[in-house]
Amino acid sequence: MADVDLYKVLRVSKNASDGEIKKAYRKLAKEFHPDKNPDHGDKFKEISFAYEVLSNPEKRSTYDSYGIEGIRGEAGPGSADDIFSHLFGGGMGGGLFGGFPGFGGGGGGGRRRKQRGEDTVHPLRVTLEDLYNGKMSKLQLSKNVICRVCNGEGGKTGALQTCRICHGRGVKVTIRQLAPGMVQQMQSMCTDCNGEGETINEKDRCKTCHGRKVIKESKILQVHVDKGMKDGQKITFRWEGDQQPGLEPGDVIIVLQQREHDVFQRDGLDLYMSYSIGLAEALCGFQISVTHLDGRRLLVKSAPGGVINPGSMRAIVGEGFPVYKSPFEKGNLYIKFEIKWPENNFADENKLKMIEKFLPPRPKMPPLDDNVEEVDLTEYEERLNKRSGREAYHEDDDADEGHHGPGVQCAHQ
Ligand SMILES: [Zn+2]
Ligand SMILES: [Zn+2]
Repeated sequence: MADVDLYKVLRVSKNASDGEIKKAYRKLAKEFHPDKNPDHGDKFKEISFAYEVLSNPEKRSTYDSYGIEGIRGEAGPGSADDIFSHLFGGGMGGGLFGGFPGFGGGGGGGRRRKQRGEDTVHPLRVTLEDLYNGKMSKLQLSKNVICRVCNGEGGKTGALQTCRICHGRGVKVTIRQLAPGMVQQMQSMCTDCNGEGETINEKDRCKTCHGRKVIKESKILQVHVDKGMKDGQKITFRWEGDQQPGLEPGDVIIVLQQREHDVFQRDGLDLYMSYSIGLAEALCGFQISVTHLDGRRLLVKSAPGGVINPGSMRAIVGEGFPVYKSPFEKGNLYIKFEIKWPENNFADENKLKMIEKFLPPRPKMPPLDDNVEEVDLTEYEERLNKRSGREAYHEDDDADEGHHGPGVQCAHQ
């Protein structure tokens, strides 16, 4: 967010004239005015702010040289504050030039007094059963904790000395002369004190942490996966991240990752599965059992007389996923039925005649006249039809040949 370009906000070029800027602003302000566009209130603020800066020659030149940071220094208290927090996350409170937390996407925000260490993110693989039933997982992780022997000082009290190399700044500045009158300043982390600005004499160092102020410790976190949680959901353990002297520890964030399930697919509160039945079951009713995610067997019945069409869906209300934090409320379970049709010649001609007696009658055919030609019906072969259907349609699209129907395509082959 820090690199919001005010010129881009107004949709003008970097060397736009004052007139062009004014014109662009009027047009956009009209377009995004909150009266017309209540959903784009923030956009309107951005536009107004960009205009406020770019229409003022002094502010514009500061912005051109120093970017948004420079403007921030100039802006002063008041209206610009909420624009800044909107555009860059973090309030004005942090001071003027430089040194505002949250700038540059650090994510801290200006409100925290103490600086925070980084969050630690761990994935946790779970099954659909775990999310349905809830589960307690133990997660072992290793983290830095402040050394208890030296209280995070790294040695005896008073052993800490300001680094002689960097004079406590933690950085070294090297000046290189590129040409007469032209120098380049380079900053690098001080290697003597690891950028901390302080060192401890070898003999005074804490024996436990060897002067590092922290030690590695392994910790077991109990992660409660609650009923109804979902893939990607985060479980946060506040302040369980690495400890570092002078910093508020970050959080440990557990991110749930659900494995695919062999039977069920989840969509929010609903579960989907498919089930294959035979023709007899599809026509004459059935009784099947489905093992649910908690091990219960559901007896699913279809009364004789109810016909199941291939691909049709039936719902079992209240057997879907539990609602997170309200696990007695549940979504639905949907079963999609696939029908296994009998093989060729599964019955002889006599039996077929018997079966037909029970089926709905055939439709009447119009009378045969001279205009009728008898043709052969053969097995469908994939090969003959390769270029038809969706595949061919897509190829046509790519080649930009226009839209032939599949039939036309077949005729070419
Ligand atoms: Zn120590
Ligand atoms: Zn140093």
